[in-house]
Amino acid sequence: MKCSKCHRDAIIFQRYSGMHLCRQHFIADFEGRAKKVIRKNRWIERGDRIGVALSGGKDSSALLYFLTTLFRDRPDVEISAITIDEGIGGYRDPGMVRSIAESMGVPCHTASFSGEYGITLDEIVRRKGDRLSCSYCGVLRRSLMNRIARNEGITRIAFGFNLDDDAQSVLMNVLRGDVGRLVHQEGPAEGFIPRIRPFQNLPEREVALYAHLHVHGFLERGCPYSHNALRADVRTMLNNYSYRHPATKFALVNLGDELPKRAAGSPEAAGICPECGDPCRGTCQTCRILAEVRQDAG
Ligand SMILES: [Zn+2]
Ligand SMILES: [Zn+2]
Repeated sequence: MKCSKCHRDAIIFQRYSGMHLCRQHFIADFEGRAKKVIRKNRWIERGDRIGVALSGGKDSSALLYFLTTLFRDRPDVEISAITIDEGIGGYRDPGMVRSIAESMGVPCHTASFSGEYGITLDEIVRRKGDRLSCSYCGVLRRSLMNRIARNEGITRIAFGFNLDDDAQSVLMNVLRGDVGRLVHQEGPAEGFIPRIRPFQNLPEREVALYAHLHVHGFLERGCPYSHNALRADVRTMLNNYSYRHPATKFALVNLGDELPKRAAGSPEAAGICPECGDPCRGTCQTCRILAEVRQDAG
Protein backbone atom coordinates (compact mmCIF):
# COMPACT_ATOMS: atom_id res chain seq x y z
CA MET A 1 0.00 0.00 0.00
CA LYS A 2 1.29 3.46 -0.92
CA CYS A 3 1.26 6.58 1.26
CA SER A 4 -1.76 8.83 0.60
CA LYS A 5 0.54 11.88 0.54
CA CYS A 6 3.54 10.65 -1.47
CA HIS A 7 4.78 7.67 -3.48
CA ARG A 8 6.55 5.86 -0.61
CA ASP A 9 5.30 2.64 1.03
CA ALA A 10 2.82 3.18 3.87
CA ILE A 11 3.59 1.86 7.36
CA ILE A 12 0.19 2.56 8.92
CA PHE A 13 -3.46 2.99 8.01
CA GLN A 14 -5.51 5.52 10.00
CA ARG A 15 -9.08 4.31 9.96
CA TYR A 16 -10.43 7.60 11.36
CA SER A 17 -8.79 9.73 8.64
CA GLY A 18 -8.91 7.16 5.86
CA MET A 19 -5.21 7.77 5.14
CA HIS A 20 -2.29 5.45 4.57
CA LEU A 21 0.96 7.05 5.75
CA CYS A 22 4.65 6.40 5.10
CA ARG A 23 7.20 6.70 7.89
CA GLN A 24 7.93 10.36 7.21
CA HIS A 25 4.31 11.43 6.85
CA PHE A 26 3.26 9.37 9.88
CA ILE A 27 5.85 11.11 12.08
CA ALA A 28 4.87 14.54 10.75
CA ASP A 29 1.18 13.84 11.34
CA PHE A 30 1.77 12.39 14.81
CA GLU A 31 3.98 15.24 16.02
CA GLY A 32 1.72 17.82 14.42
CA ARG A 33 -1.29 16.57 16.36
CA ALA A 34 0.60 16.45 19.67
CA LYS A 35 1.84 20.03 19.12
CA LYS A 36 -1.68 21.18 18.31
CA VAL A 37 -3.04 19.85 21.62
CA ILE A 38 -0.20 21.54 23.52
CA ARG A 39 -0.85 24.84 21.74
CA LYS A 40 -4.61 24.72 22.12
CA ASN A 41 -4.38 24.15 25.88
CA ARG A 42 -1.36 26.44 26.35
CA TRP A 43 0.28 23.54 28.14
CA ILE A 44 3.90 24.56 27.63
CA GLU A 45 5.03 28.17 27.70
CA ARG A 46 8.20 30.16 28.00
CA GLY A 47 10.00 29.47 31.28
CA ASP A 48 8.24 26.15 31.94
CA ARG A 49 10.13 23.28 33.50
CA ILE A 50 8.44 20.09 32.34
CA GLY A 51 8.81 16.86 34.30
CA VAL A 52 7.84 13.81 32.25
CA ALA A 53 6.42 10.98 34.36
CA LEU A 54 8.63 8.19 33.03
CA SER A 55 7.54 4.61 33.75
CA GLY A 56 9.83 3.12 31.12
CA GLY A 57 6.89 1.86 29.03
CA LYS A 58 6.16 2.83 25.43
CA ASP A 59 3.88 5.81 26.10
CA SER A 60 6.03 7.71 28.58
CA SER A 61 9.27 6.90 26.71
CA ALA A 62 7.73 8.14 23.46
CA LEU A 63 6.54 11.31 25.20
CA LEU A 64 9.97 11.99 26.67
CA TYR A 65 11.53 11.57 23.24
CA PHE A 66 8.93 13.80 21.59
CA LEU A 67 9.26 16.66 24.10
CA THR A 68 13.05 16.46 24.23
CA THR A 69 13.21 16.71 20.44
CA LEU A 70 10.60 19.47 20.25
CA PHE A 71 12.39 21.69 22.78
CA ARG A 72 15.99 20.81 21.92
CA ASP A 73 16.75 24.31 20.65
CA ARG A 74 14.61 26.15 23.17
CA PRO A 75 16.69 27.25 26.17
CA ASP A 76 13.55 28.78 27.71
CA VAL A 77 11.89 25.38 28.27
CA GLU A 78 13.49 22.66 30.36
CA ILE A 79 12.67 18.95 30.15
CA SER A 80 13.45 16.34 32.79
CA ALA A 81 12.13 12.89 33.73
CA ILE A 82 10.54 11.75 36.99
CA THR A 83 10.67 8.06 37.84
CA ILE A 84 9.02 6.30 40.76
CA ASP A 85 10.13 2.87 41.92
CA GLU A 86 7.01 1.32 43.46
CA GLY A 87 8.89 -1.76 44.63
CA ILE A 88 7.38 -4.44 42.40
CA GLY A 89 9.79 -7.38 42.29
CA GLY A 90 11.01 -8.36 38.83
CA TYR A 91 8.84 -5.80 37.03
CA ARG A 92 10.98 -2.82 36.30
CA ASP A 93 14.66 -2.11 36.70
CA PRO A 94 15.04 1.52 37.82
CA GLY A 95 18.49 1.61 36.20
CA MET A 96 16.93 0.70 32.87
CA VAL A 97 14.38 3.49 33.15
CA ARG A 98 17.14 5.97 34.01
CA SER A 99 19.14 4.84 30.99
CA ILE A 100 16.22 5.76 28.69
CA ALA A 101 16.41 9.32 30.03
CA GLU A 102 20.21 9.32 29.82
CA SER A 103 20.12 8.17 26.20
CA MET A 104 18.14 11.35 25.45
CA GLY A 105 20.43 13.54 27.53
CA VAL A 106 17.69 14.32 30.04
CA PRO A 107 18.18 14.51 33.83
CA CYS A 108 16.10 11.97 35.75
CA HIS A 109 14.67 12.53 39.24
CA THR A 110 13.95 9.30 41.08
CA ALA A 111 12.20 8.29 44.29
CA SER A 112 10.88 5.05 45.71
CA PHE A 113 7.90 3.94 47.78
CA SER A 114 10.26 2.24 50.24
CA GLY A 115 12.40 5.35 50.66
CA GLU A 116 9.47 7.74 50.95
CA TYR A 117 6.73 5.69 52.57
CA GLY A 118 8.72 2.87 54.18
CA ILE A 119 6.66 0.26 52.32
CA THR A 120 6.84 -1.30 48.85
CA LEU A 121 3.88 -2.13 46.62
CA ASP A 122 4.78 -5.83 46.97
CA GLU A 123 4.35 -5.50 50.75
CA ILE A 124 1.06 -3.64 50.32
CA VAL A 125 -0.24 -6.43 48.09
CA ARG A 126 0.97 -9.08 50.56
CA ARG A 127 -1.04 -7.38 53.31
CA LYS A 128 -4.10 -6.18 51.46
CA GLY A 129 -4.37 -8.45 48.41
CA ASP A 130 -4.21 -7.14 44.87
CA ARG A 131 -7.83 -6.08 44.39
CA LEU A 132 -7.16 -2.44 45.23
CA SER A 133 -3.45 -2.38 44.45
CA CYS A 134 -3.89 -0.15 41.36
CA SER A 135 -5.86 2.51 43.19
CA TYR A 136 -3.47 2.49 46.18
CA CYS A 137 -0.48 2.63 43.86
CA GLY A 138 -2.03 5.39 41.75
CA VAL A 139 -2.66 7.67 44.74
CA LEU A 140 0.77 7.07 46.28
CA ARG A 141 2.54 7.50 42.95
CA ARG A 142 0.71 10.73 42.12
CA SER A 143 1.43 12.33 45.46
CA LEU A 144 5.10 11.32 45.40
CA MET A 145 5.40 12.62 41.86
CA ASN A 146 3.84 15.91 42.92
CA ARG A 147 6.24 16.19 45.84
CA ILE A 148 9.31 15.59 43.66
CA ALA A 149 8.06 18.09 41.09
CA ARG A 150 7.56 20.72 43.77
CA ASN A 151 11.03 20.14 45.24
CA GLU A 152 12.67 20.33 41.83
CA GLY A 153 10.85 23.49 40.76
CA ILE A 154 9.01 21.66 37.99
CA THR A 155 6.07 23.69 36.68
CA ARG A 156 4.11 20.94 34.87
CA ILE A 157 4.05 17.16 34.97
CA ALA A 158 3.57 15.51 31.58
CA PHE A 159 1.85 12.12 31.35
CA GLY A 160 1.99 9.73 28.40
CA PHE A 161 -1.70 8.80 28.49
CA ASN A 162 -2.92 8.14 24.96
CA LEU A 163 -6.34 8.44 23.29
CA ASP A 164 -7.34 4.89 24.24
CA ASP A 165 -6.41 5.34 27.93
CA ASP A 166 -8.33 8.59 28.21
CA ALA A 167 -11.39 7.41 26.25
CA GLN A 168 -11.58 4.26 28.40
CA SER A 169 -11.38 6.31 31.60
CA VAL A 170 -14.22 8.60 30.53
CA LEU A 171 -16.42 5.67 29.47
CA MET A 172 -15.64 3.85 32.74
CA ASN A 173 -16.83 6.88 34.70
CA VAL A 174 -20.01 6.94 32.60
CA LEU A 175 -20.65 3.22 33.11
CA ARG A 176 -20.10 3.52 36.86
CA GLY A 177 -22.34 6.57 36.97
CA ASP A 178 -19.50 8.47 38.61
CA VAL A 179 -20.80 12.02 38.20
CA GLY A 180 -18.16 13.40 40.54
CA ARG A 181 -15.27 12.26 38.40
CA LEU A 182 -16.97 13.38 35.20
CA VAL A 183 -17.60 16.96 36.29
CA HIS A 184 -14.81 17.36 38.83
CA GLN A 185 -12.79 20.43 38.08
CA GLU A 186 -9.23 20.50 39.24
CA GLY A 187 -8.66 24.16 39.78
CA PRO A 188 -5.15 25.48 40.15
CA ALA A 189 -4.18 25.35 43.81
CA GLU A 190 -1.14 26.06 45.85
CA GLY A 191 1.20 23.08 45.86
CA PHE A 192 -0.52 21.07 43.11
CA ILE A 193 1.63 20.92 40.03
CA PRO A 194 -0.61 21.05 36.91
CA ARG A 195 -0.65 17.91 34.75
CA ILE A 196 -0.60 17.79 30.97
CA ARG A 197 -1.36 14.96 28.50
CA PRO A 198 0.12 15.83 25.07
CA PHE A 199 -0.78 12.39 23.58
CA GLN A 200 -4.45 12.48 24.56
CA ASN A 201 -5.55 12.62 20.91
CA LEU A 202 -3.16 9.94 19.66
CA PRO A 203 -4.32 6.31 19.41
CA GLU A 204 -2.39 3.72 21.39
CA ARG A 205 -1.17 1.90 18.29
CA GLU A 206 0.27 5.12 16.87
CA VAL A 207 2.08 5.91 20.11
CA ALA A 208 3.43 2.34 20.07
CA LEU A 209 4.63 2.76 16.49
CA TYR A 210 6.23 6.12 17.29
CA ALA A 211 8.00 4.53 20.28
CA HIS A 212 9.29 1.66 18.14
CA LEU A 213 10.63 4.11 15.54
CA HIS A 214 12.49 6.28 18.08
CA VAL A 215 13.18 4.66 21.44
CA HIS A 216 15.36 1.69 22.24
CA GLY A 217 14.98 -0.47 25.31
CA PHE A 218 11.57 0.56 26.60
CA LEU A 219 9.66 -1.84 28.82
CA GLU A 220 7.27 -4.03 26.83
CA ARG A 221 5.33 -5.77 29.55
CA GLY A 222 2.80 -4.21 31.87
CA CYS A 223 2.62 -4.21 35.64
CA PRO A 224 1.97 -7.73 37.04
CA TYR A 225 -0.74 -6.37 39.36
CA SER A 226 -2.75 -4.51 36.73
CA HIS A 227 -5.68 -6.72 35.87
CA ASN A 228 -8.51 -4.26 36.06
CA ALA A 229 -11.55 -6.22 34.92
CA LEU A 230 -13.74 -3.19 34.14
CA ARG A 231 -11.05 -1.49 32.07
CA ALA A 232 -10.39 -4.70 30.11
CA ASP A 233 -14.11 -5.04 29.29
CA VAL A 234 -14.43 -1.37 28.35
CA ARG A 235 -11.35 -1.60 26.18
CA THR A 236 -12.75 -4.56 24.20
CA MET A 237 -16.17 -2.96 23.87
CA LEU A 238 -14.74 0.40 22.80
CA ASN A 239 -12.39 -1.16 20.26
CA ASN A 240 -15.22 -3.16 18.68
CA TYR A 241 -17.51 -0.15 18.57
CA SER A 242 -14.84 2.24 17.26
CA TYR A 243 -14.06 -0.10 14.40
CA ARG A 244 -17.38 0.87 12.86
CA HIS A 245 -17.51 4.38 14.36
CA PRO A 246 -13.91 5.63 14.22
CA ALA A 247 -14.53 9.02 15.83
CA THR A 248 -15.86 7.57 19.10
CA LYS A 249 -12.65 7.70 21.16
CA PHE A 250 -12.02 11.32 20.16
CA ALA A 251 -15.60 12.14 21.13
CA LEU A 252 -15.19 10.56 24.58
CA VAL A 253 -11.93 12.40 25.30
CA ASN A 254 -13.61 15.64 24.26
CA LEU A 255 -16.55 14.86 26.56
CA GLY A 256 -14.17 14.29 29.46
CA ASP A 257 -12.48 17.64 28.78
CA GLU A 258 -15.62 19.69 28.25
CA LEU A 259 -17.92 18.41 31.01
CA PRO A 260 -15.99 19.94 33.91
CA LYS A 261 -15.90 23.30 32.09
CA ARG A 262 -19.68 23.37 31.65
CA ALA A 263 -20.62 21.98 35.04
CA ALA A 264 -21.82 24.59 37.50
CA GLY A 265 -19.80 25.27 40.59
CA SER A 266 -16.30 26.42 41.30
CA PRO A 267 -13.30 24.13 41.66
CA GLU A 268 -12.96 22.36 44.97
CA ALA A 269 -10.69 24.31 47.28
CA ALA A 270 -7.53 22.62 48.43
CA GLY A 271 -6.37 22.40 52.00
CA ILE A 272 -3.22 21.23 53.70
CA CYS A 273 -3.00 17.76 55.22
CA PRO A 274 -2.21 18.01 58.96
CA GLU A 275 -0.33 14.69 58.80
CA CYS A 276 2.04 15.10 55.87
CA GLY A 277 1.72 18.80 55.04
CA ASP A 278 0.94 18.14 51.38
CA PRO A 279 -1.89 19.95 49.65
CA CYS A 280 -5.06 17.86 49.46
CA ARG A 281 -8.79 18.10 48.73
CA GLY A 282 -10.93 16.76 51.56
CA THR A 283 -9.12 14.08 53.55
CA CYS A 284 -5.61 13.27 52.40
CA GLN A 285 -5.85 10.09 50.32
CA THR A 286 -2.16 9.38 50.69
CA CYS A 287 -2.24 9.44 54.48
CA ARG A 288 -5.48 7.44 54.60
CA ILE A 289 -3.96 4.69 52.46
CA LEU A 290 -0.68 4.68 54.35
CA ALA A 291 -2.52 4.37 57.68
CA GLU A 292 -4.54 1.49 56.25
CA VAL A 293 -1.64 -0.50 54.82
CA ARG A 294 0.65 0.10 57.80
CA GLN A 295 -2.03 -0.93 60.29
CA ASP A 296 -1.85 -4.50 59.11
CA ALA A 297 1.90 -4.67 59.62
CA GLY A 298 1.25 -6.41 62.94
ZN1 LIG B 1 4.36 9.77 2.53
ZN1 LIG C 1 -1.36 13.64 54.14
